Amino acid sequence: MSSPIRAIQNRCVCYCRDCQAFAHFLGKVDAILDERGGSEIIQVLPRNLTFTQGIELLACMRLTEKGLLRWYAACCNTPIGKHAGHAETLVHRARAQLPGK
Ligand SMILES: [Zn+2]
Repeated sequence: MSSPIRAIQNRCVCYCRDCQAFAHFLGKVDAILDERGGSEIIQVLPRNLTFTQGIELLACMRLTEKGLLRWYAACCNTPIGKHAGHAETLVHRARAQLPGK
């Protein structure tokens, strides 16, 4: 699965309970959360996100009935991102796929 990002908009670390719960849902707490419970995310416009392969492995969930759509790779439970409305998509930083710090 590959998800190249052509135009990184913003990079931040989120400490919200939902992102922490998502890491627990995926069973990847140690891989996703830093020592303070933060997860690094990159904010991109949906038009700047392209999947070149593995789209059939994308899975989606919500933590609550009206929560954000959260995407992940069903084959390995790697977080992909969350859709925060029509204007932006927040992509969890996949260290092997995205540019470094
Ligand atoms: Zn969050």
